Amino acid sequence: MRAGLAVLLVVGCLPEEASDSVTGTPRLDAATTDASTPAPDAAAGDADPDAATLDPDAAAPDPDVGFQAVVDRTCPGDPGCEAGAETTLRVGAGAQIISDLGYEKPLLEYLEMRGDCNELQGERCGQLERSFLLNCGTDRLCEGDEGYPGPDEDGTEGDRDEDAVPYYDYFRDCGFDDICPGEDGYEGPDEGEGNKRFEGLWIAGFGLNRPAIGVHDHAWARTVAIEHGNTLVTVTSVDAVGLFYDDVKRIRVRARELLAEQLPEVDLDLAIVSATHSHEVPDTMGLWTGDVDPEVPIPQETGVKPYYIAQLRERAAISIAEAVGQLQPANMRVGRTNTGIDGFLRDSRVPRIINDEMGVIRFTDLTGDTIATLVNWGNHPETLGGDNNLISSDFAGPLRDGVEDGIPDSVGTEAREGLGGVCVYLQGTVGGLMTPLRVPVLDSEGSEIPDKSFERNDVFGWRLAEHALDAVEAGEDVEDPAVIFTTSEFNIPVFNRLYHLGFIVDLFDRELVEWNDQGTIGPGNTPHVRTQIAILRIGPVTMYTVPGELFPELAIGGYDGSHSFGLDIIDADDEHAPDLSAAPSGPYLNDIMPGEYPWVLGLGNDELGYLVPPYDFVVHESAAYFVEPPGDHYEETNSVGPDIVPRILTVLETLAAHLHDAGPE
Ligand SMILES: [Zn+2]
Repeated sequence: MRAGLAVLLVVGCLPEEASDSVTGTPRLDAATTDASTPAPDAAAGDADPDAATLDPDAAAPDPDVGFQAVVDRTCPGDPGCEAGAETTLRVGAGAQIISDLGYEKPLLEYLEMRGDCNELQGERCGQLERSFLLNCGTDRLCEGDEGYPGPDEDGTEGDRDEDAVPYYDYFRDCGFDDICPGEDGYEGPDEGEGNKRFEGLWIAGFGLNRPAIGVHDHAWARTVAIEHGNTLVTVTSVDAVGLFYDDVKRIRVRARELLAEQLPEVDLDLAIVSATHSHEVPDTMGLWTGDVDPEVPIPQETGVKPYYIAQLRERAAISIAEAVGQLQPANMRVGRTNTGIDGFLRDSRVPRIINDEMGVIRFTDLTGDTIATLVNWGNHPETLGGDNNLISSDFAGPLRDGVEDGIPDSVGTEAREGLGGVCVYLQGTVGGLMTPLRVPVLDSEGSEIPDKSFERNDVFGWRLAEHALDAVEAGEDVEDPAVIFTTSEFNIPVFNRLYHLGFIVDLFDRELVEWNDQGTIGPGNTPHVRTQIAILRIGPVTMYTVPGELFPELAIGGYDGSHSFGLDIIDADDEHAPDLSAAPSGPYLNDIMPGEYPWVLGLGNDELGYLVPPYDFVVHESAAYFVEPPGDHYEETNSVGPDIVPRILTVLETLAAHLHDAGPE
């Protein structure tokens, strides 16, 4: 996550009427949300005692006592999941496009030209102009503006129906086919046409108001299914900025429905669903809305469009059923490599600790053809930046294409053959904060390829594919890999007051638990979210999910400078640097995992923001989560709170110990 909510909600005083206009949700007290005058002693005001409010002290956490991890399920071994006599490894793969749907597009005149984005993308690009909600017609000129020619002849000026759904001028309201009456191919009104709502898609990851105007390369849901004995698991990767556990559960339900219809004899034991964290695909969380009326500085609605998330869930479920339907006897090869940081990785937050390890698995059928190749590597898929309006999976696209179809001879790569099959990219340690932005990517002549360009994204992804192909080549074949997993569901307290606001105005389609939804949010009444962690062993590979953006140091340590790549781990003159003497001494997560190849599945089964090591978790004294304190502490503003990492560590330690006992060494 980047920028989103802080931009969204740190907007000054919230008008009382804005909260009144939100029906069916707990009421929000304006006095406590004034970010411009953060005051922990601000009174809760005259809030309705029958509805939830925000307590200004909510940032002071309840003491996290008594949390205990519970192992929910282990397969094989648990009832209903007995070990089978059959021990052949069987593998299948599925891949479904998500982003092939109709939606309304903004009028390009309303897109703000920023920097060199037009030149780089070859299209109009950027965010909607701040004036996009003014009701001045399609010429954007209001009475009194220079050159005002009079009311727009098409009748779009001053046509907003203040009493009904607002009708704005930045889109044509021609429905999902984007064809208006009188245009070629018009066959009558289609869905969304003339409903006075923008049925478009807001691209997630950077700032607000970034509407999609087309597709550069599609967003995908890709799944590998793995069966050994009676244990059947699927691992799905979706090109999304993040998926909530609630959506993961919906995808599982739908996948099991499809399997019950298509393969009634099949019993799917675990479906892991992770997000790639692409910052160039439509919002799936709710933070990256548009439609923010400058006169009412609070988001009017979530950035998630119901038709997009519905299609995403359906296609993800289909990819799971498809992969299970393709199961066949398979061989496994595993490998790893280090990409280095040049041309790939930058750590924008001290301490500079970077995890450049890439893990690969190649599954082949008994004739040697590739079924699937899995690639695990951590970085933000945001090479295209925040002004791109074309849907894209970012570097995951050329990475996967390069592994499958080969790498072309390009400005920065030499031709190379691919492996065929389906490539699944799995996000790794992305937090803390790993970015490709402002990392020089050089062409074969040594010249820098323009930042944020599609060309740079291609070379970036193809070079990752080169590393993946190398790692497969140098890898080791695994004889008779056992498959075993264990899972735990648990609750995490949400202390982030920005997220509280987001829940109150219904930005998030996510259930809250362990709280009184009619009470005041604060100590004694902290909303919690439910999440799940899974550890999956496939032979020597141990994949462990983390429900967010894990700082690499939590997985690998590196506080001794061993993962700083010759850079200063912190700058000598950094007066706000974290106290490394307080950093944990290990063992770290990768150390406690059984098996030889630990893989972090970042944003696995959930996305709860950044997972900040507790010793370095700092929020602003008087405006926690609204304002960054001095030093590198942006990530805390996009974190649920200080208790999430301790709980995750407890759960992972418990599950890993359980697997050590239950599984082969
Ligand atoms: Zn992020």
